[in-house]
Amino acid sequence: MNQKKEPLRCSRIKTNGQRCRAIANRNTGLCAVHSGSVPRLNTEIDLSEGLISVRKFLARTAMALKRGKIKANDANALANLCDKLIKIHQMIEMEERLKEMTKVLEEYKSRGIEDAELVDLQALESEYEK
Ligand SMILES: [Zn+2]
Repeated sequence: MNQKKEPLRCSRIKTNGQRCRAIANRNTGLCAVHSGSVPRLNTEIDLSEGLISVRKFLARTAMALKRGKIKANDANALANLCDKLIKIHQMIEMEERLKEMTKVLEEYKSRGIEDAELVDLQALESEYEK
């Protein structure tokens, strides 16, 4: 008897509604990805870390692409989203700086210090910081 066993296929249903069909482990009935033995792309971005987190995410995405874990289209979409995140982050930072500068300017004006004096004051402050 020369009976060749068909490999067991993964039973997991993918998000597109189709069955996975990758070769599965006999014990779990799941493929390496769905049993969790292959790490999935970590999509966490901790924005409290600022742009460092985006950089880490981009590095993980690049590695996943290199290892064939994600498709080029998906990597492209993720990189595009990161680009938007970076721009929003920069805009928020600029907005915060502008708010701070406006606050300082209002403070000086409330003390009766005029714009012309402010210029001198800034020169003085930069001299002092040296
Ligand atoms: Zn699977």
